[in-house]
Amino acid sequence: MKNMICDNLSVNEKDHLCLGGQDTVLLAEQYGTPLYLLDEDRIRLQCRTYLRAMREAFGEAALPLYASKAASFKQIYRIMQEEGMGIDVVSVGEICTAHAVGFPLERAYFHSNNKTDADILYAMERGVGYFVVDNREELDAIERVASEKGSVQKILLRLTPGIDPHTYEAVSTGNVDSKFGSAIETGQAEEITAYALTLPHLHLAGFHCHVGSQVFDADVFLRSAEIMLRFMAEMRDKHGYLAEELDLGGGFGVRYLAEDPVMNIADTVKTVGESVQALCRQLGLPLPAIRMEPGRSIVAEAGMTLYTVGTVKQIPGYKNYVSVDGGMTDNPRFALYRSPYTVLLANRTEKAEAEEQMRCSVVGRCCESGDILQENVKMPKTVARGDLLAVLTTGAYNYSMSSNYNRIPRPPVVMLAGGESYLAVKRETPEDVCRNDL
Ligand SMILES: *Cc1c(COP(=O)(O)O)cnc(C)c1O
Repeated sequence: MKNMICDNLSVNEKDHLCLGGQDTVLLAEQYGTPLYLLDEDRIRLQCRTYLRAMREAFGEAALPLYASKAASFKQIYRIMQEEGMGIDVVSVGEICTAHAVGFPLERAYFHSNNKTDADILYAMERGVGYFVVDNREELDAIERVASEKGSVQKILLRLTPGIDPHTYEAVSTGNVDSKFGSAIETGQAEEITAYALTLPHLHLAGFHCHVGSQVFDADVFLRSAEIMLRFMAEMRDKHGYLAEELDLGGGFGVRYLAEDPVMNIADTVKTVGESVQALCRQLGLPLPAIRMEPGRSIVAEAGMTLYTVGTVKQIPGYKNYVSVDGGMTDNPRFALYRSPYTVLLANRTEKAEAEEQMRCSVVGRCCESGDILQENVKMPKTVARGDLLAVLTTGAYNYSMSSNYNRIPRPPVVMLAGGESYLAVKRETPEDVCRNDL
């Protein structure tokens, strides 16, 4: 079937959609809807693929860091610890969650373009290994807190190599105007490097870049790696500074639609590895310890959201609506940036595709016209209240971007592992939603 866009999807003899071999109709009965499912076996496979590929390409010092903003809750950090991954964190909440389950925070990299003094202190007190520093002001703030504590903080500097990943061109201005990082092209990257080297309570471990997300072309990573390595050689020549680490960021693409390409992680990492090794030899640089920061490509394809269909509204000559029991509160990505998703009926998957179809908007139940999960979805004309609807590839940036708008409680997260299922995050209750109200 064309819409089985990831190899953990299948349809069983009852014509029910399965994830990781498990029947979604039974899971919906057991846990209720709306429901986030995450295929843990798939998440572990993605981690192992990155770990193995990076070690083969860049040696034993290489480490993938799971960008945990893609999906952050206690169990995911336990899994990352068991798999030997590092992590990216971007807030005190993520640091607290990882810390709560004993994740070794010396393998954590703290991002964000605006860390407050309180954030900096919180992260240092919990032993976050690295701060990825965005700008000069932040350098001063981290130096100040580290000096008050009498410690030395390891840092990477976030630089913008000036690549626009979606035109596949290194353009002179593209991304230089980004909110994130310091631009190589304007000389600010060199300035901030020289400055960081003068600060006694900071240890500059190396450099970081992240050019974008949902990138399928290995060339984008090759080009940014080349710009970063040339910058490293320049810093060695001009300032006698040799970076130990180079973090190439995340951004590997995943399939939301059948027409999206399949990205081979191992092959792409290998290609980047060959190019980085060759360029290091050419520039006379020792191979730095390489970091990559996959988020989406670790968890997206492991995920699926299940909903129960409610009102079906046909406005003759205009539009059809299929309403579900969730919406922009559990998946705001269409509302935010019109993200495409594949939507299927899970309780009669192949039969539904064989029937006469209508085009519809799949919408949620928030008081907001923009509460749309997807437009131009093909559904059988018989779709009705009680059908089970699945949105595929929702493992990344869904639960982590969810909200309580309209005071709607969040769905639970159920993990699928080795043919079993278990709760990783409980369903919120209406009482949970008002627990901080005084
Ligand atoms: C979001 C982000 C990532 C992860 O990007 P994906 O597209 O999810 O792989 C990695 N690094 C940084 C700095 C990010 O902001």
